[in-house]
Amino acid sequence: MARFIMALDQGTTSSRCILFDRDAKIVSLAQKEFQQYYPKPGWVEHNPREIWSSQLSVATEAMAAVGASASDIAAIGITNQRETTILWDRTTGEPVYNAIVWQCRRTAPEIEKLRENGEEKEIRERTGLVPDAYFSATKIAWILDHVEGARAKAEAGDLAFGTVDTWLVWNLTKGKVHATDYTNASRTMLFNIHDRTWDEELLRIFRIPRAVLPKVVPSGHLYGTTDPFLLNGEIPIAGVAGDQQAALFGQCCFRPGEAKNTFGTGCFLLMHTGDKAIRSEHGLLTTIAAGTDDRPCYALEGSVFVAGAGIQWLRDEMRMIKTAAQSEEYADAVPDTAGVYLVPAFTGIGAPYWNPYARGMAVGITRGCRKEHFIRATLESIVYQSHDVIRAMEKDAGVPLKELRVDGGASANNFLMQFQADIVDATVWRPKCIETTALGAAYLAGLTTGFWRDESELIGKEQLGRRFVPVMENARRTELLKGWRRAVKASLAWAEDF
Ligand code: ADP
Repeated sequence: MARFIMALDQGTTSSRCILFDRDAKIVSLAQKEFQQYYPKPGWVEHNPREIWSSQLSVATEAMAAVGASASDIAAIGITNQRETTILWDRTTGEPVYNAIVWQCRRTAPEIEKLRENGEEKEIRERTGLVPDAYFSATKIAWILDHVEGARAKAEAGDLAFGTVDTWLVWNLTKGKVHATDYTNASRTMLFNIHDRTWDEELLRIFRIPRAVLPKVVPSGHLYGTTDPFLLNGEIPIAGVAGDQQAALFGQCCFRPGEAKNTFGTGCFLLMHTGDKAIRSEHGLLTTIAAGTDDRPCYALEGSVFVAGAGIQWLRDEMRMIKTAAQSEEYADAVPDTAGVYLVPAFTGIGAPYWNPYARGMAVGITRGCRKEHFIRATLESIVYQSHDVIRAMEKDAGVPLKELRVDGGASANNFLMQFQADIVDATVWRPKCIETTALGAAYLAGLTTGFWRDESELIGKEQLGRRFVPVMENARRTELLKGWRRAVKASLAWAEDF
């Protein structure tokens, strides 16, 4: 009997493969970085061939490390960097251009034009997204307009478009399957999240021929089986979800009001909103959540631009710490920030303020301010920014947050997690396995193939790493948040006189 589920985690900087056993424990992990291409300032590309070869090689490596053969793998789940765009020839399987990565800003002028044409509202209504260059739509059009002959071939049905999941499924099945899941489709800016179909009007606005688009199916679904020669046997591909939605699923956030915060370079917050696609009044995104059947399920998504990046800044530019982990010692060395607030609006400030001209600000500094206070203020700023996104989500969704699940590199910081619990006034739950993205993909594949019975079985397998319970008094919280709001105001005032 098959012992493992294989998760393929195709990220922005590396491809990883993790094998999970029936207890949802990691038994093998392999990882490979691949090249980033920056052809011009603000442009980011990957080579689709390298994405595929690195992904296949880590799969082989993870299997070899534990002596697993194809028959030991019950199913494969895929999770991936979202929005990144690939177009390839349906006959040869050759990409017609590099993958244009989500971070790439080359199509920003196109988005400006749409705004000027007054099409923003229409796009928001249909897709749940705030129009931006990082979604796939304008990237597809760019390739069709800049690669010679591409548009004609696309219209003749000779080209296939895919986000990275689609590209992997295509290659794993040797071109037999051209499909994506709802979560990835919802990030293309071409998908109507309400009736869950490719949207005629959006295809017209973005000038995308329907013939390039993949079929869209639920995240948990039998996509196909791997070509027998790739991994020495046929393995069902049974789960696909974009990275953030996979993490939400991997954290067992299956019900409305359940939410997770991933603490990486930035913070990614998602809150499940059940079968309701809630339109945000605060500039958050509405997106499709991962599920194992065809029932609609949605989430609200918000992000904090500078989270772990602020700690990197303290380390690399300010040179106040040697390692990111040291920030915890320094923060714990003082009882508070001595009234100092740091607003790390290095590239503007996001939800719910939305001001691209705001800049970083340190306020409340007195003669006694020491490096410890400054470091603590930087860590606290990550929490305040997350707090603002969470309160906006609660207002939009009309449900209060009870518990926040956390993962990502910076979730290892205990000071940060306790302060998060205190400021948000909710329990923070850090699982033992913080590989929640890969775990989510594995869960989807395992549920679809009967490797695991149902969601309640998965909840039973969850292992607590540490729980952080709020202990701060209300008056103190109110006072701290008041100070934060004043600090944000100062940062916005700086932008006003720009
Ligand atoms: P990403 O996936 O965005 O690259 P990771 O999940 O690997 O990010 O997390 C790395 C980020 O977390 C870095 O920005 C780093 O500064 C921060 N980080 C890592 N460990 C700690 C820690 N103990 N305390 C605070 N920040 C940390």
